[in-house]
Amino acid sequence: MVKAGLIENISGIYKRLSHAAMRAGRNPGDVLLIAVSKGVSVELMREAAEAGLRVFGESRVQEAVKKAAELETASSGIRWHMIGHLQKNKAGAAVGLFELIHSLDSVELASLINRHASGKGKVQRVLMEVNLSGERSKHGIGKDEIGSLIKAAAKMENISVEGLMTIPPYSDDPEASRPYYKELKELADGYGLRELSMGMTGDFEVAVEEGATMVRVGTAIFGERIKANIGE
Ligand SMILES: *Cc1c(COP(=O)(O)O)cnc(C)c1O
Repeated sequence: MVKAGLIENISGIYKRLSHAAMRAGRNPGDVLLIAVSKGVSVELMREAAEAGLRVFGESRVQEAVKKAAELETASSGIRWHMIGHLQKNKAGAAVGLFELIHSLDSVELASLINRHASGKGKVQRVLMEVNLSGERSKHGIGKDEIGSLIKAAAKMENISVEGLMTIPPYSDDPEASRPYYKELKELADGYGLRELSMGMTGDFEVAVEEGATMVRVGTAIFGERIKANIGE
């Protein structure tokens, strides 16, 4: 049985997401809700899946691999997205599991992903993580590096660069994210990239208004995480 609170949370997010899309003249169905489940128990994830959520975002490969085994990914129709920084030594395991890696941030990582994907006979879909704020604590490439990374990846047969992802500086004010999301959208359009992974619990409506094709929402679905447990 899915707990009423979880259904409230999820349906509340869909409602807010739909409103934001319609305000911007967009089809709500064009925005994928990724349930960010880092630090969330498999039991709670199972309930979320029962309530219809199928796409989970994780920031650590090992945690995702372990949960995927417990959740019987193959038969449950659950899909996994890597939203955290990907260490090079985890590229192989990541390629084995994730439908989309949101955090490509170097040519070296691209060629590792490509090699592992080739070995598995798969084309790995990726987004490039762009650091628009210049904060040193953040991963991601600078906007001036997008073109060269696209060019390098275009020569690799088993990796497909489909869009951009960004994490704006933390703020209590959702409007503070808007300029970053506007800029990411302009960059993606400029490079002819379709997917835009932007927006979290605090600002996903703003992100949808600015063109997000996927939002990464954790806290608003599952409640507060214990930050110490997930290396934030
Ligand atoms: C944790 C995380 C999220 C979700 O954050 P919430 O504020 O809980 O919605 C989204 N994106 C990334 C990259 C994250 O690490």
